[in-house]
Amino acid sequence: MKELQKKILEEGHALSESILKVDSFLNHKVDPSLMYSIGKSFAEHFKDMGITKIFTIESSGIAPAVMTALQMDLPMVILKKKESKILSEDVYQTTVHSFTKDSDYELTLSKKYICPEDNILIIDDFLANGEASKGTIRLVEQCGAKVTGIEIVIEKSFQPGRKLLDKQGYHVYSLARIKRLAKDTIEFMD
Ligand code: 5GP
Repeated sequence: MKELQKKILEEGHALSESILKVDSFLNHKVDPSLMYSIGKSFAEHFKDMGITKIFTIESSGIAPAVMTALQMDLPMVILKKKESKILSEDVYQTTVHSFTKDSDYELTLSKKYICPEDNILIIDDFLANGEASKGTIRLVEQCGAKVTGIEIVIEKSFQPGRKLLDKQGYHVYSLARIKRLAKDTIEFMD
């Protein structure tokens, strides 16, 4: 997506060879017009595929996910990051390792917001090692529902997440695919 690539080049900062900071339009301050365009592209890609709900992970996936949900006229569910396990029959939980914080959290989903008949579309801001996506897939599949697709705003294609999800047969659609990051350098895949 050209508009997104342009924004990443203008406002993104490669903090290292593995971390891209996009605080000015996605992770801290949000550009609603760009989020709307992202939602349009995401909605178009998975239209007519029987999606019943959109799942995202708090907090940076919310803006692109809600714009997609609006344009697909679907409900959106935010998976919560809890510090510890909740001993309750009412939730599904799985442990996920955070790439940016280098710590674990309990990804949590209320059983009220999913049913075995659901076809879920997962949306997140970044794809790195695929831990957040894999955790979300585990929760969906624990319920017996299906993951129909995964949509990512910025994929760091040099990290293992994309290959791993492809290998497991998931349909991944990313709007910006980064081939290489270095201090002050951002290179996209062709
Ligand atoms: P993964 O679970 O695929 O290893 O990492 C994805 C999650 O880590 C995303 O939800 C995102 O919040 C965070 N993340 C991974 N890489 C980056 C990055 O380069 N920049 C920012 N801002 N967040 C990242």
